[in-house]
Amino acid sequence: MNQFRFSRRPDIGDKVRVSFEFFPPKNDEMEARLWDTVTRLEPLQPKFVSVTYGAGGSTRERTARTIGRILKETSLTPAAHMTCVDAARHQVDAVIQEFTDMGVKRFVALRGDPAEGVGAAYRPHPDGYANGAELVGALKDAGDFDISVSAYPEKHPESPDFATDIDMLKRKVDNGATRAITQFFFDNDLYERYVERARRAGIYIPIVPGILPVHNFTQVANFSARCGALVPAWLAERFDGLQNDLQTHALVASAVAAEQVLDLVERGVGDFHFYTMNRADLVFAVCHMIGIRSHEVAGSAAA
Ligand code: FAD
Repeated sequence: MNQFRFSRRPDIGDKVRVSFEFFPPKNDEMEARLWDTVTRLEPLQPKFVSVTYGAGGSTRERTARTIGRILKETSLTPAAHMTCVDAARHQVDAVIQEFTDMGVKRFVALRGDPAEGVGAAYRPHPDGYANGAELVGALKDAGDFDISVSAYPEKHPESPDFATDIDMLKRKVDNGATRAITQFFFDNDLYERYVERARRAGIYIPIVPGILPVHNFTQVANFSARCGALVPAWLAERFDGLQNDLQTHALVASAVAAEQVLDLVERGVGDFHFYTMNRADLVFAVCHMIGIRSHEVAGSAAA
């Protein structure tokens, strides 16, 4: 019966949509790597590509420059991440205006983490937007934008319980969010349970799984511990002993990500957001597995 698995249907690529997340580069070398990645992934025709925003607006200029290049030099639709950490409302409003003037029509609206880092106590700016929901409201007032927000299948570390977490998501939806993108996770049951909780709370926007291909298991394990994402024992086992064997690590990472995504496809998921870490290979391979093929990019020879 295996040939009847949904993820193996020849037309599966028509039913799956992807988006990619990049971070703004810090130097010329990183810029070149990002651009190689963008060039390689562009022919996959993602629904949009998003560019992150550093803590406390620390990357505002670099985020804007990256988005500007995407708008000018590619056929891609960019989404600008924005946070409200350490900024007064008028400053955040000015950034929204700056992006709008550039032609940005999609945003990913976040509260953000304190400048001291994940885990430090969050204190809203006295004249600022207090959380993601208030920022969504500001964006909605500023224009007719497509607004994505965050969602946490294992709940946000600051949420005392799932009810509080889902309540925040509901507030973001009530204020105008059109899509939620999840924190990365490795156990698909957690995602499915979270979506069920959200639906029970009357939240009907798409909740798009955020997929993180594991480029470096040690780094991912450290980051997961800080942001409250579970690293299952089986995942640690798969990467065990591969710290210095980068080639096998990459092959295993691609198999792990493909397994996760194909299982989600079987469960009826059609949209995926990839945390690319500005690297193309693993994401390209997984997209290939779900039937997404390169298309010729208008005005270029890429195919
Ligand atoms: P919110 O949705 O406002 O709140 C998160 C949770 O905290 C809520 O569920 C709520 O339960 C709890 N909470 C918030 N306020 C209160 C309160 N007053 N009392 C009790 N509980 C409260 N960070 C960046 O700096 N730049 C980025 O570009 C970026 N992109 C991201 C993209 C995605 C898809 C995701 C999932 C995260 C991203 N982050 C980014 C990380 C994010 O900024 C952090 O996780 C941050 O800690 C929370 O931001 P938020 O918008 O999710 O917060």
